[in-house]
Amino acid sequence: MKSAEIRNAFLTYYANHGHTIVPSSSLVPHNDATLLFTNAGMVPFKDVFLGRDPRGYTRATSAQRCVRAGGKHNDLDNVGYTARHHTFFEMLGNFSFGDYFKREAIQFAWKFLTEELGLPKEKLWVTVHVSDDEARDIWFNEMGIDQARFSRLDEDNFWQMGDTGPCGPSSEIFFDHGEDVAGGPPGSPDEDGDRYIEIWNLVFMQFDRDAEGNLNPLPKPSIDTGMGLERVAAVMQGVHSNYEIDLFQNLLAAAAEIIGHDNTATPSLRVVADHIRSCAFLVTDGVLPSNEGRGYVLRRIIRRAVRHGHKLGARGSFFHKLVAALDAEMGEAYPELRAARAQIERVLLKEEEQFARTLEHGMKLLEEAIASLESNTLDGDTIFKLYDTYGFPYDLTADICRERELVLDEAGFHAALDAQRVRARAASNFGGDYSAKLELDGETAFTGYDQLDGEASVT
Ligand code: ATP
Ligand code: MG
Ligand code: MG
Ligand code: MG
Repeated sequence: MKSAEIRNAFLTYYANHGHTIVPSSSLVPHNDATLLFTNAGMVPFKDVFLGRDPRGYTRATSAQRCVRAGGKHNDLDNVGYTARHHTFFEMLGNFSFGDYFKREAIQFAWKFLTEELGLPKEKLWVTVHVSDDEARDIWFNEMGIDQARFSRLDEDNFWQMGDTGPCGPSSEIFFDHGEDVAGGPPGSPDEDGDRYIEIWNLVFMQFDRDAEGNLNPLPKPSIDTGMGLERVAAVMQGVHSNYEIDLFQNLLAAAAEIIGHDNTATPSLRVVADHIRSCAFLVTDGVLPSNEGRGYVLRRIIRRAVRHGHKLGARGSFFHKLVAALDAEMGEAYPELRAARAQIERVLLKEEEQFARTLEHGMKLLEEAIASLESNTLDGDTIFKLYDTYGFPYDLTADICRERELVLDEAGFHAALDAQRVRARAASNFGGDYSAKLELDGETAFTGYDQLDGEASVT
């Protein structure tokens, strides 16, 4: 089954069970300053769960575009290193707002996987929260699942959108990709491997966590589920990595062609193919590269992609050229992407050109610093100089260091950053134009510092 067919099959299945199909919302959460980006299918329904936004339905289903590159759910550092994480992905979900609860949610999900998609039961593994005897009994007594492929976990089976908001215990379904792949079952010491891949999370929404951390009961117990389209597509297409599914194969082929690198399994090429999706959709939804907040996250992703392309030998601007291939792949399901194509290309090209001016010099400085290292730790002053003068976000330097098995002196970097802020304040007291002095290689590297979602945007 192709990705688009799975998306349709899911929405049709839930529509046939009384769910209203709701189109994907923007990646920029509407009226919600607590969250950087829409990171799950439930985000647009947050106020519905809280009883503040009555709708004409109590059952809904959606394929929601999500970005996890900052805040509570941040997978940016995983991309290129695991088979299952993207910065941008689509979450298929079904929701009950005070309508059905655990029993039906579990029945719907199990039937969809085993009957609609025809997945063999012995390839699936189920988890519930340690405290949730009710869910365990439903799985054992009513679904008849094999107790040998079942675990009760703690934090992994409690889901929350962010530090505040709707949350509750959950039950998750994993797919076993077979013994050829390294990794243990959920709850085992080597669960982080890619053998057992989590495909679906069923959240039993019961609480609203407030700013003090209290769990207040929701007006009515509700259901929120999320299944990663790319992960289930990998299962259905008999491949292990998300990057081998139909949707990514075309993007990877385009990236290979544009960059001039022919191995589509190279991690850096996968990073580029992943990042074009988040960057293009973020611009579609109105985010522009900047030095703070959401815009700084976008800038970091673009620079990370450009650096990986550069590593593969790309010279000159390449990233914006991938928008055409993305449009071909996803423009039909997302007309807003197609409509914004020219704007996305302009924004990405401008940002690439700007970073290209400092990337090479910065890489040279970094290579020299690494060559003269006496330990396996990169010093804070070098990280700061790369950041301040060459526009290398902290995580970009960290990504390069990870490839070389080096660690970063993060405290030293923050000390250098603080020292600069003190200097900047002193300079402005004397009326000096400090930001003009930072202009180097045609770029003003540091113009702001902003705090959003509890995360300092400069790191
Ligand atoms: P993981 O443990 O693999 O990081 P998660 O527990 O963080 O996943 P949830 O928050 O439960 O994920 O999200 C629901 C579903 O969304 C997951 O079961 C998975 O199928 C999908 N998903 C989550 N994060 C990603 C990602 N970064 N890329 C692709 N799919 C994802
Ligand atoms: Mg995760
Ligand atoms: Mg998980
Ligand atoms: Mg999960």
